Order: sequence, then structure tokens, then C-alpha cells
Amino acid sequence: MPELPEMEAWRRRLNDPVSAFPIAKAGPAHIATLKTFDPPLDELVGRQFAGVERRGKRLLFPTRDGELVLLIHLMTSGRLKTLKAGEAAPKQPAFALEFVGGSKLILTENARRKQAGVWLYTPEQAAQELDHLGPEALGLDATRLKDILRSDSRRLHALLRDQRLIAGIGRSWANEILHAAKLSPYALSKDLDDDEIARLTTAMNDELARGLALREQGASDAKTYRIHHKLGEPCDVCGTPIAQVDFESHTIFYCPHCQTGGRTLKDRRMSRLLR
Ligand SMILES: [Zn+2]
Repeated sequence: MPELPEMEAWRRRLNDPVSAFPIAKAGPAHIATLKTFDPPLDELVGRQFAGVERRGKRLLFPTRDGELVLLIHLMTSGRLKTLKAGEAAPKQPAFALEFVGGSKLILTENARRKQAGVWLYTPEQAAQELDHLGPEALGLDATRLKDILRSDSRRLHALLRDQRLIAGIGRSWANEILHAAKLSPYALSKDLDDDEIARLTTAMNDELARGLALREQGASDAKTYRIHHKLGEPCDVCGTPIAQVDFESHTIFYCPHCQTGGRTLKDRRMSRLLR
């Protein structure tokens, strides 16, 4: 799933092409992808985007006249693409915008269950929609992070991914950040001491910045991640084979030497807990 580094790289890539020309055509949009009907999508025609902004994992496209905001969330398998005039477009995009002159912004989703979403809002509606999000993960300082960690007793991996507490981190970067911080994914947020909080703050900022720099260069997942999806490969710090454990509805990757003092983490799948 694209997270803060991936979405910020996208934001920078899209900013100029989507704001260069007014919108000539809005749509088509897959019925499962377009989540709003008022204001109608046609309201975008003739308007021009001011650029692209980002909040957490969402991209926002405000119009220059300040009246509308298009919001896109890619979820797990949504992908964005810009096409030059005349370039072949996919037959059934989840969502498409065409600009004056013929260039396009295309959202595709190669999955049976459509999860990616597009919303067209007034600025007031958009602000309301984003209101529940916690502060941006990149740039968070130790004082703020300490308050967040103290606010709820949660496993670190789950807390980092809770968008209401911190915006922008999902399962991949939670793995990378906790590995860099040498903290167990199962550690409880309220148990962290000041040294550990300082380590987590540094790791969060360094890892997200590292990811952004790599994604801006177009780096692949394999090149970007050090631990995520690297089961059995040597930890780049200590050489111990990377382990995995199922937690809630997904898989966590961790180094049993660097992060858990040699302990193997126990399976905490939802399905297993419910049995
Ligand atoms: Zn290690």
C-alpha cells in the first residue's frame, strides 16, 4: 500500500502536470470509486487545479478558484498515471480526468474489490473529512510523539498505523521504522522510556525521509525496504535472518536480534484469537 513516502513522491511528480491546464473532461469514474455526488464531477470542467497537496496518505487537488477540492485515496492497489496528449489510456480506468490540450490523469485499480476512492468536496467538506487525522508522521517531534504514545496503551505496530493518532504510516513503514528504532512491534506504547521515544522519533523521521528520497528516484519496493517482505534475508544491521509474525489481519516483519532480544513473537491473528 502506498504510504507517506510514496504519496509525497506522487504529490511532487503530479503537481506541475495537473495544474498546467484547465480540466476539459471529468470522468469516467467507476461507480465504486467515486464516493460523492454533490458537488457533481462535472463541476470540475473549466476549472484549473492550483497544484497537489497531501494529508497522510491522501492527495488533495484544490481548484484555483478555491471552490472545490478533489481528494484521492489509493488504498491497497490503486495506482495513478499521467498521460501525455495522444498516449494510449487504459480501457476502463477507475477514474480519469482530461485536461485542455489532451493530457490525462488516470487512476487504475487492478483488483476485484475496488477500494481506492475519489471524492469531490467543497473546501469545508474536505476539511471535515480530514479532521480525524492525527499530525503528519514526517516532522513529528519527540514531545508530540510522547503525548501520542501516552494517550493509549497499544502495541507499537498498531499505534503507528492508526491514522487518527499519526497520519501517513501503514504496515510497510511501521516495519521499517520499528526495525530502525530497534523496538519490538509488540511493545506497549505506554511502556516506552524517554530514550526509546527519542529513538522512535529519529527512526520515524529518518526512515520516512529515506523512503521519500528513494521513491522520488523511482526505487522499487525491493530496493526501498530493508525488512518489509524480506523474510529469511539477513538483517542489514546484525545479519540475523528476518522473521515474520501474523498480527491482526496482516504480517509483521522484524529482526529477532535487534528488536525483540532474541524472542520469537507469537501469532496474534484475528482469526486465531476468535477461534
Ligand atoms: Zn538485526
